[in-house]
Amino acid sequence: MPTPAAVHVNTLLASYPDFPQPGILFRDLNPVFADAAAFRSLIDELVGRFAGEFDAVAGIEARGFLLAAAVGYAADVAVLAVRKGGKLPGAVLTEDYDLEYGSASLELEIGQLAPGSRVLVLDDVLATGGTIAATSRLIERAGYALAGVGVVLELTELAGRSRLGDAAVHTIVAL
Ligand code: AMP
Repeated sequence: MPTPAAVHVNTLLASYPDFPQPGILFRDLNPVFADAAAFRSLIDELVGRFAGEFDAVAGIEARGFLLAAAVGYAADVAVLAVRKGGKLPGAVLTEDYDLEYGSASLELEIGQLAPGSRVLVLDDVLATGGTIAATSRLIERAGYALAGVGVVLELTELAGRSRLGDAAVHTIVAL
């Protein structure tokens, strides 16, 4: 029985072949975010799945920010921004990683939470898992505990989950 959020995602998800480059089937969740009831259902499912298990959320630039801000507000917890390399000031941790298309780095400012804080990592799509694996390393290097991983859409043929170790991974829809 699909959840209300899964029904919304399956109804509203848009797919674009060969974007942003040939061979990539790009999954666009913006139509889901642009529907108020659908967006609320995503947040409710993520908050409910991890209720009581996290002290903060970390959103991955840029679409993860949308989820993290709303989950953080709904659950009354702290919000961390994991940003692409070179955008954060001060003392930052950096992790390099490979993408389905290209490579990149992600960064996190240090000292924002108490050591041992349980952080829930949120992003829109779990593809190869490189982005979330790099974020998980940042969370642990910063002295926090990974509470879990929440994504709206998991692309199972790319086996990203296998790169996330024994993390608790919740996906609203797996394709
Ligand atoms: P990955 O590190 O391969 O798991 O990629 C995850 C990140 O890249 C997510 O933040 C997604 O927004 C984006 N991404 C990767 N592949 C796709 C895809 N096929 N459609 C949409 N977004 C994607």
